[in-house]
Amino acid sequence: MATKQSLLRLSTRVQGLRRLSSSPTPGVQTLSYSESDDIIYGPDHWQLRNSLRKIIDKDINPKVDEWEAQRKFPAHKVFKLLGNNGFLGVSRPKEYGGLELDYSYSTALAEELGNINCGGIPMAIGVQTDMSTPALARFGSEFLKKEFLAPTIAGDLVACLGVSEVSSGSDVASIQTRASRKGDDLIINGGKMWTTNGTQADWMCCLANTSEGKVHANKSLIVIPMKTPGVTVAKEIQKLGMWSSDTAQIFFEDVRVPRSHIIGEEGQGFMYQMLQFQEERLFATACALVPLEKMIAETIKYTTERKIFGRSVLNYQVVHFTLAELSTEVEMLRSALYRAVALYIKGQDVTKLASMCKLKAGRLLREASDKCLQYWGGMGFTEEVLISRMYRDMRLISIGAGADEVMLAIICKLMNTLPKK
Ligand SMILES: Cc1cc2nc3c(=O)[nH]c(=O)nc-3n(C[C@H](O)[C@H](O)[C@H](O)COP(=O)(O)OP(=O)(O)OC[C@H]3O[C@@H](n4cnc5c(N)ncnc54)[C@H](O)[C@@H]3O)c2cc1C
Repeated sequence: MATKQSLLRLSTRVQGLRRLSSSPTPGVQTLSYSESDDIIYGPDHWQLRNSLRKIIDKDINPKVDEWEAQRKFPAHKVFKLLGNNGFLGVSRPKEYGGLELDYSYSTALAEELGNINCGGIPMAIGVQTDMSTPALARFGSEFLKKEFLAPTIAGDLVACLGVSEVSSGSDVASIQTRASRKGDDLIINGGKMWTTNGTQADWMCCLANTSEGKVHANKSLIVIPMKTPGVTVAKEIQKLGMWSSDTAQIFFEDVRVPRSHIIGEEGQGFMYQMLQFQEERLFATACALVPLEKMIAETIKYTTERKIFGRSVLNYQVVHFTLAELSTEVEMLRSALYRAVALYIKGQDVTKLASMCKLKAGRLLREASDKCLQYWGGMGFTEEVLISRMYRDMRLISIGAGADEVMLAIICKLMNTLPKK
């Protein structure tokens, strides 16, 4: 297993990289350095991916079924392991324990997380690395970064993101949680809904209204330690999928935190959150690629072996054509993601591309998991095969982190086709 120190020396190119997958299954994409080097990954990315893959194979995948059954994975334990190996702050500054690599390395890791045999754990890790922390890393004070970012990157603290509320999901600007100033403190009242990692988290990156006035300029992102008096986990939400990941409803009743817990400038929270969403959406897309490939590969394997009416299911043209069509779509998605990441690294605003990627990822995951499951017949409807878990888990991608329709609205806005209110 690579140590954090060895990952910090990533500039030394590694020789003789092995293929990520040695599976001989037809249709399984055997990714290797030479095949993908020309886009955004080089040997260092593959070194990082291979190191993460070892942890996934040894410490995560063997436990996934158990954690799915328990409806929770041990976030502190898993994050500490990932933190010790440098995987929780790949593109964050070295000063706070990160590897200070560009965002292509975060993308490489997000792709690799797709090898975890469920959707819930990659999502929970993404909340820690790409959803709760980008704004803190970019705009947070020295004090906040030392107190919260550094231990989150180390895996000592578990983070969660509090944006959605009972009556505000797609319409982020309509949130009701309020943080009122009292001397040097803020008093927070309200609540958050759908909080991933919410039952285990040590702190929340919380979006709250800090003043009256225009809804896009009256909000702040605030670091709330979850053990602060007045913070309660009101409910652990039972879900259709993503079983390994805990999801909570949180209440705030007169929660007092210092004003110094505001990330960056007061009143800029909505804008920071919109920027933070870019990484969330790129992460969600990167995480989708391996599951998509796996669904197709496993379906090829199963339908090769399964015979009906005297020939293999795969032999029917509708089946192999459908799988070829899906594979083509996955390649298109991969190319779009790599382009978005390449531009993001150059410092461009990739809101439109990231939204397009997320939209396509959600839709393709739904289409692929549904079409592949169909070819498994009754077996696809059991809990014994990965495809049924993928079908349940991946349904979320069209809803969470901004529903498909929200992505469409953003794209339309940037195309100047969204009707003015
Ligand atoms: C398992 C899970 C984990 C989550 N984790 C987190 C988390 O960690 N932190 C967090 O803050 N949130 C989290 N969320 C919340 C998630 O981001 C929201 O569910 C999502 O943004 C949608 O909001 P909503 O559920 O309130 O749906 P609503 O806003 O009520 O929307 C319902 C539906 O309306 C449609 N719609 C929306 N906008 C438009 C439009 N402009 N035009 C036409 N139709 C539209 C869409 O189909 C949408 O699905 C999580 C959700 C789930 C289910």
